[in-house]
Amino acid sequence: MTRKLSPLRWLLFWLTAVTACHGAFGSQAVALDIHAGTVIGVRPENLELLLDQSVNQTPEDVVARWTAGEFSPATDLNLGLQRQGAWARLQLKNTMDQPTAVVLSHHYAPTDLVVIRNPRPDGSWHERRSGDLQTTMGNERPRTPSFLLQLPAQSTTPIFLFVETQSNLNFEMSVYAPNSYNRAEQTLALIYGALFGAVLISAFYLVLSAFMVRSRLAIILGTYLALYATYVSFLMGYVQYALPDALTPYTNQLHMLSLALLMHLGTRFYRSFLDLAHKAPTADKLVAGLQWLSLGLALLHDLPPLLAMLLSLVVIFIGPLLTTGLALYLWRRKVKQAGVFTLGWVLAPTAAVLNTLRVNGLLPNADWLLHLPAIGLLMTLGFFSYAVLRRFSQERELVFVDPLTGLLNRRGLDARAADEFERRERFSVPLTLLVLDIDHFKVVNDTHGHGVGDQMLKALGDCLTRVSRELDLVARLGGEEFAILCVQTDLRSATVLAERLRQAVGALHVAGQRFTISIGVAPVRDNDSSIWDTLVRADSLMYQAKHEGRNRVVAAGHIA
Ligand code: GH3
Ligand code: MG
Ligand code: MG
Repeated sequence: MTRKLSPLRWLLFWLTAVTACHGAFGSQAVALDIHAGTVIGVRPENLELLLDQSVNQTPEDVVARWTAGEFSPATDLNLGLQRQGAWARLQLKNTMDQPTAVVLSHHYAPTDLVVIRNPRPDGSWHERRSGDLQTTMGNERPRTPSFLLQLPAQSTTPIFLFVETQSNLNFEMSVYAPNSYNRAEQTLALIYGALFGAVLISAFYLVLSAFMVRSRLAIILGTYLALYATYVSFLMGYVQYALPDALTPYTNQLHMLSLALLMHLGTRFYRSFLDLAHKAPTADKLVAGLQWLSLGLALLHDLPPLLAMLLSLVVIFIGPLLTTGLALYLWRRKVKQAGVFTLGWVLAPTAAVLNTLRVNGLLPNADWLLHLPAIGLLMTLGFFSYAVLRRFSQERELVFVDPLTGLLNRRGLDARAADEFERRERFSVPLTLLVLDIDHFKVVNDTHGHGVGDQMLKALGDCLTRVSRELDLVARLGGEEFAILCVQTDLRSATVLAERLRQAVGALHVAGQRFTISIGVAPVRDNDSSIWDTLVRADSLMYQAKHEGRNRVVAAGHIA
């Protein structure tokens, strides 16, 4: 409870959780082990692609259009559609002397419709729809509809493909040989599974600790992370497995709702965490506006196109710019975590922006770009966790520290002494307690004022820390009474230390004033159950020193 939660511990905790979740989600990788052994690869010489953006055509129209040369060559199957359909004609070539099979895989949106028509040897057409497909894992709806295509040796196989998307800017298909398909899918599922698991566990952990330390900030962050998990699971199609059929038509709306809440809570957290209301009130108002505006993302697909464009422009483009500027400003004003924190914060939307550019053909269609939003969110998450962790451990430490002297307070001494008591019992090493009090401190306060009194307390704290060993626990018990728990120290050595302390303090000058201390020294005994038992004895020895004339050390037993 009192131990510091170091970044390393946090990382270990994370890794354990991630490993545990790995298996669970990894097993969802679609296994397509058919016709393993021959790989055609997705080399340009094996694939020819022609595209036609015309909508609402019958297959017969399409064949006619293709014969008339209406189709134009395309380099990839990234269509970047929105609520429309398109036809594509693929020419797959198997240049090998043996038959092979490839998988045409549709990524991303389970609500999209994909119809594939390929000619049979007898001249008839074979038609398959994404909604009719089954994975080999059971009869759940497929996450990535995948069409297995047989290619005879030395053959050219034409395929007509109709794709229709309900809402996604991004629509993509790839051709894989079963071997590479299988591997790529599994690796991807593992990576996303791990990410998803890590997020869920972090959320759970944060909410739990939020209730323990009663921190509103942690509750907000925990909820944010849980929402992030939901958002990712929508993105990857995990939710589609779990959604009851009645909700399936609302998949897109629910997906956008998770995104809207994610942005909303993330922004809320950003404001509280940096305490913007106090540090930059005007900026806080702007960011608050952004926070509420981001809720509008839930309705993005039901808004008129112009409004939808404006909204995403503000939330996804202007928002990050604003917060980046703000972070730089706070950084210059020495608000420590702001810079790093905002860097993480800005990464995710930036990734989304780059992805949008990719979908619209303004950036190359590289694999890593496809996964940019997830990469950005993962980094954000890392920064969030680290920043929160630092904040929590700082706050937790404050509870145990005396603000005036920076020494341990009673609570801190109690907690740290418990560890030392345990060690003493296990390894039977001696432990001795010093209690000391400034002589005639009231007079100092009365004649020179509280300010000088406080300076004296600080100087005494520094002196005690300097003279004692690093392992010893130095604490301010309250007022002008201090204690030092001397670790691995017997009564004799502790008494020597006490005398050294008394002399060191006697040599101090604070605002031209000298002062003295009286010290009681008592060893921890076997029947002391906590430091407070020892403290009672050390305290009465200290009072004995006062009675005997002050500015002296009185130790238990005969040693003086
Ligand atoms: P003795 O030698 O018997 O210890 O006499 P004393 O005057 O030091 O003892 P007493 O307990 O009568 O007075 C303690 C004084 O310490 C009273 C209080 O005003 C002062 N004091 C307690 N806490 C603080 C503090 O945080 N800052 C300052 N400046 N004074 C404090
Ligand atoms: Mg005193
Ligand atoms: Mg006192």
